[in-house]
Amino acid sequence: MTESKGIEIVCSACGAEALLLRAPRFEGLRKTGEILTCAACGHEYASEADVSFKARPALKVFTEADRSAPVKVFREGEAERLCRHCVHYVVNPFMQWCGMHKKEVEATDTCDRFKRRPDPKPPPL
Ligand SMILES: [Zn+2]
Repeated sequence: MTESKGIEIVCSACGAEALLLRAPRFEGLRKTGEILTCAACGHEYASEADVSFKARPALKVFTEADRSAPVKVFREGEAERLCRHCVHYVVNPFMQWCGMHKKEVEATDTCDRFKRRPDPKPPPL
């Protein structure tokens, strides 16, 4: 027998989602089995096979197929919402400037108006 507490069932007698109570069944001094009862209504089950255990919700929501490219791209995009990648980011010899917010920024700032700069041109050599 496994864990004796906190086992959820859907009671076939009262229909409630309840806990299954287990109590040892004795014949004289000898333990002959277990008494399985519904915590909600007290219905006694003849055997464990008669108990309808509550199905556990599937924990594994994501399958291998879900772990595809779009998610990964999104994550990389999140990590790179930096001003230096933004179309509004302007850098000049004196400061780094956000053309959207009209304020000084850092290259590693992030902001909610981030707009990815299309294909950065390689710096002229
Ligand atoms: Zn019940």
